[in-house]
Amino acid sequence: MYTASAQQATDTRPNILYVFPDQMRNDACGFWREEGFREYRNAKGDPTITPNLNRFARESLVLISAQSNNPVSSPHRAMLMTGMYSAEVTGVPLNCNTDFPANSLNPDIETIGDVFSKAGYDCAYIGKYHLDAPTPNDPERPGHYVSEKYPVWDAYTPAERRHGFNYWYSYGTYDVFKAPHYWDNEGVKHEPYEYSPVYEAKKAIAYLKNRGNVRNPDKPFLMMVGMNPPHSPYNSLRDCMEEDYELYKDVPIDSLLFRPNITDRTLPKMKCAPYYFANVTGVDRAFGMILDALKELGLDKNTIVVFTSDHGELMCAHGEGSEAKNMPYAEAMNVPFLIRYPDKIEPRVDSLLLSSPDIMPTLIGLAGMKECIPATVQGTDYSDYMKKPISGKRPQSALYFKNAGGSFECLGDTLDFFPLARGLKTDRYTLAFFIDRERKLAKTYFYDDMKDPYQTENLSLEENKELVKKLCKELSYQLKKIDDPWFKEKVLKDLIGYRY
Ligand code: CA
Repeated sequence: MYTASAQQATDTRPNILYVFPDQMRNDACGFWREEGFREYRNAKGDPTITPNLNRFARESLVLISAQSNNPVSSPHRAMLMTGMYSAEVTGVPLNCNTDFPANSLNPDIETIGDVFSKAGYDCAYIGKYHLDAPTPNDPERPGHYVSEKYPVWDAYTPAERRHGFNYWYSYGTYDVFKAPHYWDNEGVKHEPYEYSPVYEAKKAIAYLKNRGNVRNPDKPFLMMVGMNPPHSPYNSLRDCMEEDYELYKDVPIDSLLFRPNITDRTLPKMKCAPYYFANVTGVDRAFGMILDALKELGLDKNTIVVFTSDHGELMCAHGEGSEAKNMPYAEAMNVPFLIRYPDKIEPRVDSLLLSSPDIMPTLIGLAGMKECIPATVQGTDYSDYMKKPISGKRPQSALYFKNAGGSFECLGDTLDFFPLARGLKTDRYTLAFFIDRERKLAKTYFYDDMKDPYQTENLSLEENKELVKKLCKELSYQLKKIDDPWFKEKVLKDLIGYRY
């Protein structure tokens, strides 16, 4: 175990820079249309302009099939930070807002910030956090929420809930991208009038340059930058930079949203596409700024850089009835995942089915601190595999989760959660089961992603009995491994079987 006292100016452990926008699907990375990438996928990438990501991809391990297992903000972030699937332990089965006051990251669980901080890293968090339910703790107006609007989404995370991050410049959730706000280490609120990804890139660069003596330069650093865009709303120039909108405004909507699974081309949301993609380009610009600064400071060689996203965005796929995220569709679950570690990770494209809880132990492993992975972690450390694909194991599947509010008290607060859906993504198939409140099967989503990459044909369980049996065996095994509520209650026992 590394201790702070063992830190030297000669500490050669790598820095870690983790950049993650919120609602950016894997297809939105422009390089998927380029040679060297497009031949790996049977779906076509979006027509986006992402020059920085395209360049970065050629220096990185690029995952084709990284999955956001519970593809909505707070639950994904809880898995990312803790390496755990269990929402009962992380405390975050649902998005954090005042409807469910108990829904906050468990302060007693060891998160990625706790581990790296304890091991002698300087730890910084910049941008959207969304892991605490709002409480009346506005640092400027004690006893009040930071936002009086209902439902109250935004939150202030006080020092004792920051899990090892000693540099803090963050907020809960707030979707005004050109007038964002942040609370700093001391709880002082900052309200810049600048497009938030670019502003956050500038804060990240100031941290790298150690302006204002904000970090200990003798320590390696872990810096996480959570950019909110792309995220709804995507309606007007209030939501993106004008120069980015210019790139898409004259492109016909049917070329921007060409996916054959868009069944209703009259949806009002169709007009959001240019703003959505403008935000993808805006995030790319901000990411490029940080990469340039790393290089300029000579930090690029010994810094592991990850670019990924919370989850994706359907952007009209699968029709009106579908949510934009939180669904078992590829547009929601499949996220970008690019990782660069010069001379240690060979740049390549790989089909590793990485899950959200695998990220934390893998980063700890890549930093050479396997012994620091907490016993509570349920994800897998793929650092050996990332370094050398012939060594180490590969996952057979990635789980899918969706929870809903459980029982309600008379004032309307949700007291607990209901495990609404569980499913599985394998190399070839997607299979998910939704239940009603009587725990009976309500709906299935079943696709052959190899033959049908846009998931247009929901396959029959009846006509594919042997295959369903095989997939259910894998699902049983995965649910048992994490002691999921569906395993404990044997939900849909006749169908899933719980034989493994
Ligand atoms: Ca989100």
